[in-house]
Amino acid sequence: MKRAFGDVTARACANIALAKYWGKADVKKNIPAVPSVSLTLDQLVTETRVRFDSKLAEDVVRLDGRRATADEKDRVVKMLNTIRRQAGLRARAHVASHNHFPTAAGLASSASGFAALAASASAAAGLRSSPRKLSALARASSASAARSIFGGFAELPAGVRGQDDLYARPIATPDHWNVRLVIAVTERGTKKVGSTEGMERSRKTSPFYDAWVTDAPKWARQIKRAIKTRDLDTLGAAMERSTLAFHCCAMTSDPPIIYWAPATLAAMATVRGLRERGTSAWATMDAGPHVKALCGVGDAMRVRQALDRTPGVTRTWVAKPGPAVEVEVRP
Ligand code: ADP
Repeated sequence: MKRAFGDVTARACANIALAKYWGKADVKKNIPAVPSVSLTLDQLVTETRVRFDSKLAEDVVRLDGRRATADEKDRVVKMLNTIRRQAGLRARAHVASHNHFPTAAGLASSASGFAALAASASAAAGLRSSPRKLSALARASSASAARSIFGGFAELPAGVRGQDDLYARPIATPDHWNVRLVIAVTERGTKKVGSTEGMERSRKTSPFYDAWVTDAPKWARQIKRAIKTRDLDTLGAAMERSTLAFHCCAMTSDPPIIYWAPATLAAMATVRGLRERGTSAWATMDAGPHVKALCGVGDAMRVRQALDRTPGVTRTWVAKPGPAVEVEVRP
């Protein structure tokens, strides 16, 4: 039987975890051991176009204008296989994705990448998936991608071993709070230890892992409350504690995982200095060396200039709360 397939493009934004995600309850099913809370960012966009084609012998995956590597393709094909099962489809797909920012460099390309793929490939396969369903699908490939289905502020709860249906939930829309995130790039290149490998190493070897898993929900709760009441100082303080606790856990793994570069500490000192002089700015780092400073809209330029002057910072961006994933179907 001939089947007409859609030609679909989805746009998704990466997000930054305000309450950090580190540690899995189930590696195979990709279930987080701690809750995380995030801000979706308008500046870090992935665009993914998908078209199923019954004449193709295998999936064709292009990333940033080149053929995807075997590992990159495997992750994409795994999600496509899930979608094919859900849609009762055998056709292979053309996938072309562009990250409008550096890939695998600690700027969460996997978050926007798998959110955009979940939305575009599901629609191209003819599925009418709810945001929850897309979020659970994205989460199976990258936990942070579950949050990128939603705009503004979102949370992904902790899950349990064997769980299949864990999805993120929206907390507040992008217009709820006009904050800014200043991103300071401190080092070139891709990250040194992948997140999954790093998390498992921490779980198995860090003496601080259990303490991290016990305390992480408290910071997530404080951060959610602070988002609702638009309390930047409370949010910032909890975000810095969550950040430092997660990095401590990584650093005390065996062998140690140190994501920071010299410029990471310099940029953190810049943010602390701004605060001492009265600017409410707060730093966070993911599994990489870059520093992201959260501040009010009126302080964003001052924070950016201070980070631009920090030795070792090579580039800065100012991002604001971004939209939910968007889908465009070509006739
Ligand atoms: P990052 O900090 O950029 O998320 P990771 O190493 O965690 O770094 O994830 C990067 C990986 O995510 C890539 O190696 C690739 O496998 C996958 N990825 C990134 N962007 C896309 C995309 N647009 N489409 C599909 N997969 C992607």
